[in-house]
Amino acid sequence: MSKIIAANFKMNQTPSETIKYASEFLNKKQNFKSKVIFCPPFTSIYCMAEKLKGSTAKIGGQNCHFKNSGAFTGEISPKMLKNSGADYVILGHSERKTYFDESNELIGEKIKAALANNLHIIFCVGENENERMQNIQNSVIINQIKNTLKNIEKNELKNIIIAYEPIWAIGTGKAISPEQAEEMCKMIKDFINKNYNHGQIKVLYGGSVKSGNAKDLFKMPNIDGALVGGASLDVEEFMKIINAAENI
Ligand code: PEP
Repeated sequence: MSKIIAANFKMNQTPSETIKYASEFLNKKQNFKSKVIFCPPFTSIYCMAEKLKGSTAKIGGQNCHFKNSGAFTGEISPKMLKNSGADYVILGHSERKTYFDESNELIGEKIKAALANNLHIIFCVGENENERMQNIQNSVIINQIKNTLKNIEKNELKNIIIAYEPIWAIGTGKAISPEQAEEMCKMIKDFINKNYNHGQIKVLYGGSVKSGNAKDLFKMPNIDGALVGGASLDVEEFMKIINAAENI
């Protein structure tokens, strides 16, 4: 099964830096067996989409509003993302929840609006360190899924990918073990299958994925790929992660 490897650049790179990155990346490879998705900042989406034309790599946003237009100063709509060349959008990232107070309900509205604009969703869920220490990670994640997806129809799930990202592993270098990640991804799939009668959901792992741990994560049967933050900013390192997925 081909894997999905998504890059979350977070708030890094100017448009000219993204163009340089994309040139270096394409010099190495243009077509991929796996699904490669770049999520640069909004200001780099259009130029990166133009640059990647002819490659199989896709573009995504890191957030969007739940309306297509209107008096929402500073916001970007899902319609704008789509028109700029994006096919995906990350929603529910823990940094949006922590720093911008996004609730599960708000994320649910954003997902609905993004789906209506033919965007695919990378929907992030994950427990914090305290919740992991209390061993309540399964119920925390199930509640996030239930509360966020409560207005999502079963037929919309085919356009949603879940990214399991334990918050304590994001940007910390403390990746979860492949066995623990596998257990969580399987738990999420079983929950979606049982409660939404949808057996095809893809679940990615995210949190300190690097070339050094990618292969062991990708060997796991229920890990369908990775959402990669910091390590995606280095072309060589990100290419090694993609190659690890393609050589399984
Ligand atoms: C992320 O931001 O989604 C992420 C997984 O970051 P990192 O790979 O840097 O931990």
